[in-house]
Amino acid sequence: MMKILKFGGTSMGSPKALTQIESIFRSRIEMGEQSILVCSAMSGVTNQLFEIGKMAEKRRLSHAMELFESVKNRHMEAAEALGVRPYFEAYATALLEDLKNLIKGIGLILELSERSKAYLMSFGERLSTRLLTAYLKKKGHPVEQFDSTFIKTAGKNFIKDEVDLPLTRQAIDAVLTTPLQNGISPVITGFFGTNQESVISLLGRGGSDYSGAILTVCLGAKTLEIWTDVDGFLTADPRLVKEANIIQQIGFQEAAELCFYGAKVLHPKTIRPVIEKGGEVYIRNTFNLSNKGTLITQYPTPSEVAVISISSKKVDMITLDLFGITLNKREVMADLFQLSKALEINVDMIAASEAQVSFCIENDQENRPHFLKKLSILCPYVIKKNRSVICIVSPADVQGQIGIAGKIFTTIAESGVSVEMYSQNASEIAQLIVVKSEVSDKVITKLHENLVIRPIE
Ligand code: ADP
Ligand code: ASP
Ligand code: MG
Repeated sequence: MMKILKFGGTSMGSPKALTQIESIFRSRIEMGEQSILVCSAMSGVTNQLFEIGKMAEKRRLSHAMELFESVKNRHMEAAEALGVRPYFEAYATALLEDLKNLIKGIGLILELSERSKAYLMSFGERLSTRLLTAYLKKKGHPVEQFDSTFIKTAGKNFIKDEVDLPLTRQAIDAVLTTPLQNGISPVITGFFGTNQESVISLLGRGGSDYSGAILTVCLGAKTLEIWTDVDGFLTADPRLVKEANIIQQIGFQEAAELCFYGAKVLHPKTIRPVIEKGGEVYIRNTFNLSNKGTLITQYPTPSEVAVISISSKKVDMITLDLFGITLNKREVMADLFQLSKALEINVDMIAASEAQVSFCIENDQENRPHFLKKLSILCPYVIKKNRSVICIVSPADVQGQIGIAGKIFTTIAESGVSVEMYSQNASEIAQLIVVKSEVSDKVITKLHENLVIRPIE
């Protein structure tokens, strides 16, 4: 059986972590499974590459070079500790030279286009996969490193591109069929693909999960395993809520809602392609193999809980004032959605009444300034920044249960916090609440305590 194993930044981030990967990989061979590994950069490296680009562009080339040296040394030291320095050097010297020249180039022209940024940020995965491959080879495993140039992107942009599935399927067949038939396990870079002009294009931050999903679907595998640094999908972000518990099984819609609204454990685009093909996704901890993790599936075993998990993300809240304009509500709504489509702005949450339409947008979207400018031509609006959408997710099978919304509002009121916007979809899976970001952690902790730990009877 073939499985896709995706290892995140912490799982790639140290010699110890790479030895964990080796033992996971070895145990799969012993079980007669064929593994395809999809890997992130070593933890923190993608951010450092981003910083390097900014420094070089802003005439701080010597700082950029210092940071480059530290990225290089981190990989070299890990290779040394794993006893594969000569192998790694053979694989990576030319790559490191390319990276150095690229940084110098940015420093000379003092310009960092999105295209160059994508190329620069792809080096993290290209280095980490070479390091892991060198180590797995040393351990006698039949592996080969691949840059994911066969993930064909739609060419929408260079930083958060979409994948063109039919083209990718063909390209993957052409490159991976023979090695797989020969029993070789590919070690593949996550995070990027190439567009129609064969230029590197990124899949968004955290996008290696999405790369894993694409490979799962294109290779006809049923299982994607996301190996990370927590025991599974938890009932809340463990950085905010210490009491967060592992969820054993969760439905894909529920998981998709939570990921879209900020549960960082999984990139939001990961689930849909796998589940559409009847597959399943596991979240596992690279550092705690005895824990079975979380299964994300179309048909989870029914759970007794009223609320399964809570997540949140930062947004801007916008209110359109429909009075005093000549367009009617129908026309404004139509124009708003046209605009969001044209400028690729996600409208995350919406509530409408006769006099006003309120909605939220993520505050880091590339076209946001352009969108706001066009919006002001359409209709007068008020924007409130530093808001958070809190997403409270119930299992699909609790539909119709009385009292969940009541408890949510009572809990928020008891925290002394005002709800600025609210919406619930008709399936009753997700309830969305907007509060000021400064009080969001406090509200999430209380909601977790009252709805997840002490559920409704
Ligand atoms: P990786 O580098 O392995 O992809 P990420 O940092 O992207 O790891 O995602 C894992 C992190 O997601 C965890 O360390 C945890 O802090 C955070 N996280 C946020 N919400 C959740 C949640 N509901 N369940 C599990 N982890 C979560
Ligand atoms: N290395 C990339 C990032 O930090 C992709 C990933 O880890 O999924 O965003
Ligand atoms: Mg991640």
